[in-house]
Amino acid sequence: MRRQIAKLFRSRYAGWLFASLAFSAIAVVGVRVRYARLAPSHAPATVRYSEFLTALTRGQVDSIVIEQGSALRGWSHADLANRGTRSFRVEIGGIPQDQVVAAATAANAAVAFAPPTADRSAMINLAVTLIVTAGIGGLLWFGLGRQASGSSGSADVTLGNEANSPTTFADVAGNGAALADLREVVEFLREPKRFAQMGAKVPKGILLEGPPGTGKTLMARALAGEAGTSFFATSGPDFSGMFVGVGTMRVKALFKKARRAGGGVIFIDEIDSLGGKRGRQGGHQEDDRTLNQLLVELDGFGPTDGIIVVAATNRVAELDPALLRKGRFDRSVTISLPTVDERSAILSLHAAKRHMPLADDVELERLARLMPGTSGADLEGLLNEAAILAVRTGAKSVCWAHMEEARDRVLLGRARTGLTVSADERRLVALHEAGHAVAGLIFCPSDPLHKVTIQPRGGAMGVAFFQPDHEAHLHSRASLEGQIRKGLGGRAAEELAFGADRITSGASSDLQHTTRIAKEMVYRLGMGNSTGLMIFDPDSGPVSSEMHSRMDADVRALLEAAYDEVLALFRDHRPALEALATALLDRETLTGAEASSVLAAHGLGARTAAA
Ligand code: ADP
Ligand code: MG
Ligand code: ZN
Repeated sequence: MRRQIAKLFRSRYAGWLFASLAFSAIAVVGVRVRYARLAPSHAPATVRYSEFLTALTRGQVDSIVIEQGSALRGWSHADLANRGTRSFRVEIGGIPQDQVVAAATAANAAVAFAPPTADRSAMINLAVTLIVTAGIGGLLWFGLGRQASGSSGSADVTLGNEANSPTTFADVAGNGAALADLREVVEFLREPKRFAQMGAKVPKGILLEGPPGTGKTLMARALAGEAGTSFFATSGPDFSGMFVGVGTMRVKALFKKARRAGGGVIFIDEIDSLGGKRGRQGGHQEDDRTLNQLLVELDGFGPTDGIIVVAATNRVAELDPALLRKGRFDRSVTISLPTVDERSAILSLHAAKRHMPLADDVELERLARLMPGTSGADLEGLLNEAAILAVRTGAKSVCWAHMEEARDRVLLGRARTGLTVSADERRLVALHEAGHAVAGLIFCPSDPLHKVTIQPRGGAMGVAFFQPDHEAHLHSRASLEGQIRKGLGGRAAEELAFGADRITSGASSDLQHTTRIAKEMVYRLGMGNSTGLMIFDPDSGPVSSEMHSRMDADVRALLEAAYDEVLALFRDHRPALEALATALLDRETLTGAEASSVLAAHGLGARTAAA
């Protein structure tokens, strides 16, 4: 025995032993410190999400820490669960994180995120340490003849193949192109041998590219569900930022595991964090090595293994080109935010899946039109929020008013009840929003006004919502100019009513938006006055500095012309503008139809959304 120990110390495993002991000490200290910070004297009380929302509205929540996955920890100065503790825990299952953040910030609670990878890597360090130590123990007893098995280090590859109700393509609405590509490989996953015998080449990797919440994870899971195979979910960050060799080892282990399971779908989320361009500055050597290992594995498995790797990213431009080569992720599918019809389909699908009792006044198709630019996850969040509201108001079914409130919450945040707004400020906001409403009604005839309100919500003091009749794919110069005028309506109304000295910061995001449109028109669409058809294209060589300043001058001219148009409109129809502002001060929120009738009574005709 003693001789064996001496031999061990001389051997190359000695380094491992010391390293592992040091790591375990660090890991234990790390875990302790973190635990101490997150868990004060009492164990946290578990609080339901709806109770948490109520506490937020009452201003009882001081701070929250969002944990990876589906929970948050919070601290309140009130005893929420009557259990003598001020720290609490909430399961936030399917609720989108930004919604939670918006709700918390609206209620002035501090928001932080628990550092997930650090936490997890501490656990991984610990696990690896234990495994290595155990390995060395084994070597001591059974002699040094056998090789240490490194593959057991990858512990958190999840086998997400739900036995009772697997996710299938029926759970996905829209995303047609991506689904078509995935459908093609279902047969292959079911019977890889048949394809191999025929000498058929099948894809190894499919890259799904698109914004967050568009259903990439969902579709990968559905692919496994359709084919009845295993689903191995991982994500880039799981592999990166590890200490030397772990990323590589985990990639190996993942593929080995899939092969042993007889194939399946390997899903790698956020692959850009791992598969970024190799050899970048800044010491990503370890990630590069992990990426190389992934390439080796991709090249290494054959048709009979029955493995498909699906990777997701929202930044395809950052990927290492080696990943996109033939025989690797040679199919890439772009997933866009859903169109209005797709939004409608997603809403109906989720309402049906949840067996949501919908009142007669709910039109999902109209709701879809009111949610431009949102993802499937946002839409799911909207339905969830509406359902919670319905429960809290004691309703028997979810009705339009719940949907409307939920929508405002998802898009803007919660109504801010505690905010005190001075009479002057309120009047200014009323004029500002009336300005948007009037400018929109006149200059953007195809986007009727849905509603206008001066109820503070989220970060906004008020808002004018427009409801496009249909989604345009091409934008005419007139419609772009209309958008700019509508956006400048708020500032113009402030200036007209209160004078140039009293214009406010309230227009800051409006100006951001309008400047962006104007720049787009000049720099990319060839709609500038003096630069005309010449656009800015970095690929076609440098642009002279003279041209640059002329383009900037064009942008400015576009904005100024639009602003003058709006001011002129308001001067001609000042009584109508003021009347709408007064109505807002009086009623806080007006529907598009109500706003129109106020304006019509003062001689300004316009269209509104059909109510
Ligand atoms: P991603 O991986 O693209 O960020 P997810 O797959 O995680 O998006 O989507 C989150 C949730 O949003 C899904 O679980 C699903 O409930 C819903 N969702 C998103 N897109 C769709 C869609 N096209 N059809 C149905 N549900 C969707
Ligand atoms: Mg995802
Ligand atoms: Zn504004």
